[in-house]
Amino acid sequence: MRKRIFALLLAVALLCGCYAPTQPEMKQYNATFLDVFDTVTAVVGRAESQESFQAAAQKIHDDLLYYHQLFDIYNDYAGLANLKTVNDQAGVAPVKVEKAVIDLLLDCHSYYEKTGGKVNVAMGSVLKIWHDARESVQLPDEAALLSAKKHCGWDTIIIDEENCTVFITDPLQRLDVGAVAKGWAVQRVAEIAPSGLLLSVGGNVVATGPKAADGTPWVVGVNDPDGGSAYLHTLNISGGAVVTSGDYQRYFVVDNVVYHHIIDPETLYPSMHWRSVTVICPDSGLADALSTALFVLPLEEGKALVQSCGAEAMWVDGDGNYHYSDGFDDFIRT
Ligand code: ADP
Ligand code: MG
Repeated sequence: MRKRIFALLLAVALLCGCYAPTQPEMKQYNATFLDVFDTVTAVVGRAESQESFQAAAQKIHDDLLYYHQLFDIYNDYAGLANLKTVNDQAGVAPVKVEKAVIDLLLDCHSYYEKTGGKVNVAMGSVLKIWHDARESVQLPDEAALLSAKKHCGWDTIIIDEENCTVFITDPLQRLDVGAVAKGWAVQRVAEIAPSGLLLSVGGNVVATGPKAADGTPWVVGVNDPDGGSAYLHTLNISGGAVVTSGDYQRYFVVDNVVYHHIIDPETLYPSMHWRSVTVICPDSGLADALSTALFVLPLEEGKALVQSCGAEAMWVDGDGNYHYSDGFDDFIRT
């Protein structure tokens, strides 16, 4: 009898919901890191405790640092074969690399094909000339650019998936994955991170789910290329990536002309179509590649490209006019 009364009470309690285990209280936490991809990384999101948030943020940081070192073309790391090692061995020998390097380069090749060659990580020889020009604040030598252009093809990049090696057979060719590495790495870490976080690595933003359990989205701002404190728009983002490329990010000035860091592979000069391009796309690697590609494409070609990739984009031109892909509006909050 006592057992039956207990069962009855339990059933009533469950029906009333008063016996349901209480949800742990979720609070918002944030963390900042300064040592990956030469930029500021921020992680923000809900967690049950400071400890569980910290553990998730630390794992994100450690994985980003790993990718940063693997894709670095400027520095050596003890015991690690990275893209600098691959570049140093151009024309010499294949280099055994981590699988992530193979995966990144295969994706880079697909970005190259998708963007009609506008995003070409195999044109490191050209990009190095511009990098040095930026450092010395001097325009590059035209003849050097034209000669570097001969060493930008993909048939000299031998990716051996089975043996996990990469060999640049042309001794004068170099890889530079700066256009996609950040976005690609953020995508990898986001895929295994807890849901409901917002990651920002130097403006490459990814949401691993809405901000709150009730579906409230994150609010992501689109920066003003002129550096104004107000955002051009704020966007509602519940998942996926928002990536911006802008002429204000890295540049130098000669004779009052701004030479920024996104180079048209055809002309070999900074592309002058846009001040900034913002891409919304489920995949952050593709978003990063697209933001660079759209920067060197005129509007109609860019619109066709974003549509074929299932992405959305916003362009800001030199006169301060905004242009949008058809579905961008759905994300605009203000
Ligand atoms: P950021 O690095 O500021 O996030 P991007 O994602 O647009 O901006 O990448 C710019 C970097 O990509 C440059 O610094 C350069 O190393 C490289 N790059 C520039 N133009 C191209 C291009 N057309 N294809 C591939 N890489 C490029
Ligand atoms: Mg990019």
